[in-house]
Amino acid sequence: MKKPVYLDYHATTPCDPAVLAEMMPYFGAEKFGNPDARTNIHGRNAAEALRHAKSDIAGLIGGDAEDVILASGATEANNLVLQGVASGLKNGRNEILVSAIEHDSVFNARMAGIEVKKIPVTRDGFIDPGVVASMTGDRTLMVSVMAANHEIGTIQPIKQIATIARASGALFHTDATQAAGKIPLDAEELRADFITFSAHKMYGPAGIGALYAAPERQPLISRIFFGGEQQKSRPGTVPLALAAGFAAACRLAIQKMPEEEGRLKNLGNLFLEKMPDVKINGALSPRLPGSFNICLPGINAEQLLLNVSAGLSMATGSACASAARKPSHVLRAIGLSEEDIFSSIRFSFGRYTTQEDVIFAAETIACL
Ligand code: PMP
Repeated sequence: MKKPVYLDYHATTPCDPAVLAEMMPYFGAEKFGNPDARTNIHGRNAAEALRHAKSDIAGLIGGDAEDVILASGATEANNLVLQGVASGLKNGRNEILVSAIEHDSVFNARMAGIEVKKIPVTRDGFIDPGVVASMTGDRTLMVSVMAANHEIGTIQPIKQIATIARASGALFHTDATQAAGKIPLDAEELRADFITFSAHKMYGPAGIGALYAAPERQPLISRIFFGGEQQKSRPGTVPLALAAGFAAACRLAIQKMPEEEGRLKNLGNLFLEKMPDVKINGALSPRLPGSFNICLPGINAEQLLLNVSAGLSMATGSACASAARKPSHVLRAIGLSEEDIFSSIRFSFGRYTTQEDVIFAAETIACL
């Protein structure tokens, strides 16, 4: 039997076979060692391998090995930034601005003593830099705006927003979990203080993510976990096999990005051609290639996904929120009615999506 067509790459991606091959030796005795056990050769070799892995991971966004802290994923990395900065030295600043379409791991971070203000979003799904400028001031400690949205795929003007944050003396964080590996990102060009991303969204293993902190900003992240001295603000033994896989995924992403971007755009165009009258949530451009959120008025999206699940894997929104069955705060923020929110479906294409898959998906939906 044909496997269901997978169109939920924003939820997670399969490991690329080349990534798996890089990880395997680290699970067995071949490359085994604790990177912090510096007194034995296994440990020193592991430390060297970890340094190389961090260098490749940081390389995806133009950073250096020393700028990266590895965590269990983007959820933890986001918590580390927001909670770490919120509980550190604030210089009289006690406000953090976050966009209304952030992932829950930004929204739900615990920021004691901080007033969290939501930056509204346009109907098209964008954060307007002018609005950010009107909200920042001498009380703003940090501005956190994602690079690309996980539900509607819109790409945010983070370079302009970072400049505005900096001009007001605030820090800037971007959650690049959906953008990393798909569109070019350069920490220096962006002048971002903190960037977070995750391996399992870019054909690497689940269970590892990265927090990039600009060198002068690293002391601003105070500890939220306590233990040993590994990685300063994030103690605990680093999973070397996962780090090696993450590094391989980053190298592959750099190599494949230009071609993949074009291929996914073409698949997206084909999808739109096959569904000419469909109502798309959020503007068509700029958005992540091969990412669509569509509204099918009058249809119960969850029921539809169950009905087609033998042939198609898609989503009603973020995997984290769908477990709670609450209406998407992203679709709500762009002004959809509750009815339309529950009639919306997210399609995300990826490295293994073919033209046949896209045609099959469009035809399946069209027949409903
Ligand atoms: N941020 C965004 C934008 C995401 O899409 C996700 C995953 N859905 C996360 C953060 C959390 O990533 P992780 O699964 O690695 O914790």
